[in-house]
Amino acid sequence: MLELDWTHLPFGYVKTDYNVRSYYRNGKWGELEISSSEYVSMHIAASSLHYGQEAFEGMKAFRGKDGKIRIFRWEENAKRMESSANGVMMAVVPHELFLKAITTAIRLNERFIPPYGTGASLYLRPLLIGTGARVGVKPADEYLFLVFVTPVGPYFKEGFKPVALQIARDHDRAAPKGTGRFKVGGNYAASLSAGEEAHASGYAAALFLDAKEKKYIDEAGPANFFAIKGNKYITPKSESILPSITNKSLMDLARDMGMEVEVRPVPVEELAEFDEVGACGTAAVISPVCKIDDHLTGHVYKYCNDGQAGPVSTKLYKRLQGIQYGDEPDIFGWNYIVE
Ligand SMILES: *Cc1c(COP(=O)(O)O)cnc(C)c1O
Repeated sequence: MLELDWTHLPFGYVKTDYNVRSYYRNGKWGELEISSSEYVSMHIAASSLHYGQEAFEGMKAFRGKDGKIRIFRWEENAKRMESSANGVMMAVVPHELFLKAITTAIRLNERFIPPYGTGASLYLRPLLIGTGARVGVKPADEYLFLVFVTPVGPYFKEGFKPVALQIARDHDRAAPKGTGRFKVGGNYAASLSAGEEAHASGYAAALFLDAKEKKYIDEAGPANFFAIKGNKYITPKSESILPSITNKSLMDLARDMGMEVEVRPVPVEELAEFDEVGACGTAAVISPVCKIDDHLTGHVYKYCNDGQAGPVSTKLYKRLQGIQYGDEPDIFGWNYIVE
């Protein structure tokens, strides 16, 4: 029996036993291969290294009280990887191959799935990269799809604690007709300097505005933005944000709780009118936000609730986690049970 300090695991990389890989060559995907190496060997002129032909996914597997292993909405991740692949001209991973790869990687590393009740889970990282050699700028003709897994601890070690964000007025992560809606590494490279500046000033993340007008909220680094105003769940409509599966699920839960959901441009000034604000994504589900600092204009917006997360965010968080761990009925059919 593997003994890891499950409740104190960081959100980071822990070596597991195996990863799985499939190569796209001569116009088709090869058999899934199992590897125990943490390394990839590829051509020095691979298109992923030079021209950023790469996309990834992030998802989790959860061990329930009943001992079953659940993965959350995998088809949404498969569809999004398909969209990212098309976005940067890569071979598309068929959904059956995607499912086979994640379930194989989970089963082979079963001893790394954290026990129920620790708040930890198994993070799955599907990755698609151009491996074909290219010096002229052109899509590659060979690709590698791989999935590795790593156990991750609970995101909030001191409980569900609110964080502060800094508006990144002097940075953009993605252009309006660019790659912001695809889950590609280039967007992350473009957001690193804003994120590091925010961290250096004591903020959890940078909050990006729309690149064209700097009038509307886009998203918070690697997480979507949402706000609660009265009985409304509000989240930005923008062509440069990544469509978060967590956000989509929270919208369904909000509707189910009798709330109205608005997906529309969210002007920065409206930050003064919200009751609760949160950032959402697979890693944390929800990071409640207690303060947003627009440091270049001097505006500060606060959502205090005595240093606690607001009641609506807390309820949404508990319901989503309850479904993921199998504690609550899966009324939307979101879970896939790994046999
Ligand atoms: C992955 C990601 C998210 C969160 O998406 P989920 O599907 O909820 O995990 C949000 N923003 C960006 C930029 C992302 O890459």
